[in-house]
Amino acid sequence: MPDYEEFEIATRAVRVGQHRTAEGEHSETIFPTSSYVFASAAQAAARFSGDQPGNIYSRFTNPTVRTFEERLASLEGAERCVATASGMSAILATCAGLLKAGDHIVSSRSIFGTTTVLFSTYLPRFGIETTFVPVANTEAWEAAIRPNTRLLFLETPSNPLTEIADIQQLSALARSKDCVLVVDNCFCTPVLQQPLALGADIVIHSATKYLDGQGRCIGGAVAGDNERVGKEVYGFLRTAGPTMSPFNAWVFLKGLETLPIRMQAHCSSALQLAQWLEKQPLVTRVYHPGLASHPQHDLASRQQTGFGGIVSFELQGGQQQAWKFIDSLRIFSITANLGDAKSTVTHPATTTHGRLSPEQRADTGITDGLVRLAVGLEGVSDLQTDLARGLAALAA
Ligand SMILES: *Cc1c(COP(=O)(O)O)cnc(C)c1O
Repeated sequence: MPDYEEFEIATRAVRVGQHRTAEGEHSETIFPTSSYVFASAAQAAARFSGDQPGNIYSRFTNPTVRTFEERLASLEGAERCVATASGMSAILATCAGLLKAGDHIVSSRSIFGTTTVLFSTYLPRFGIETTFVPVANTEAWEAAIRPNTRLLFLETPSNPLTEIADIQQLSALARSKDCVLVVDNCFCTPVLQQPLALGADIVIHSATKYLDGQGRCIGGAVAGDNERVGKEVYGFLRTAGPTMSPFNAWVFLKGLETLPIRMQAHCSSALQLAQWLEKQPLVTRVYHPGLASHPQHDLASRQQTGFGGIVSFELQGGQQQAWKFIDSLRIFSITANLGDAKSTVTHPATTTHGRLSPEQRADTGITDGLVRLAVGLEGVSDLQTDLARGLAALAA
């Protein structure tokens, strides 16, 4: 097998990590087995003691899962990647592997809602506190860091308003304060943004989204160095057990093969729709990093190789008009998932961000008229016609 590391990302997305069996199969194999047979009692002992590498038990060693891990590690430019049962268990395993009671996290405020709940409700029970700051305000990050801060956590672009964190600046800050910088790279994927190359220490994925790409399986991953990810995070995972199943790993492997071309298509359609929405009289504001009107368009252009598939916009008339618009669409699915071939639409104020108080929503800019699109892979003119249908229903 050639050393694929010197190849383009599209080649690595298709090729890295496959270890063919003696059957000569062309597509990757699924290994649905809980445990592995040892040639002798002595070999079993050597595997268990760690003296001899090899498979033991699928909670922590499975060849299909390992193929997915090797391929994603290559795409992110990481020494090591470990797969998890979900994006949330990737975040939990990172915190549990790296932190202890008394430690403190600084996190951007506009993160996935369930991550907010993990940080503000569950981690405090184990003595880990979190301070939330606006993602794009580096001074606020610095001011929030305490002597016991160990981990900085962010998502960029943020959901749903597509604010951009300056990863290079924040990684310099993390280094100067002896903190680990963790970036949830779910929205961009390694195709559009490589946080480790910009100085981050760890990348988190919800494989459920773009890595799968067709809305089928729940999964996650943590990528980074051999010490933190390979020892600390993996150590927690193999003990606590939120492991990726081999079947899901196989689905994600098939997803990775088409990730580069899918991301290009998501980006191109999203930008086209964002530019069109900006010209519509009933739309008061459009949020997409690819628009010249985006306040951080220059930073996004430097940090990302594409602007992603998320477009949010504000309609005149608040919740009533937003709901009417959403209910008038025929192609966009009303569902909270994203990263799917199928385009989706959500009303953040009453769904993903419904648990926030009206004041918190106002703080984070989630107004009642805000609509979020995750642009899929359907024909872009059909999608535009669908959005026009929604706007026409409001004008009627
Ligand atoms: C969906 C999502 C998660 C959680 O992933 P699951 O696979 O649903 O557990 C974490 N971060 C972001 C940005 C997400 O969109």
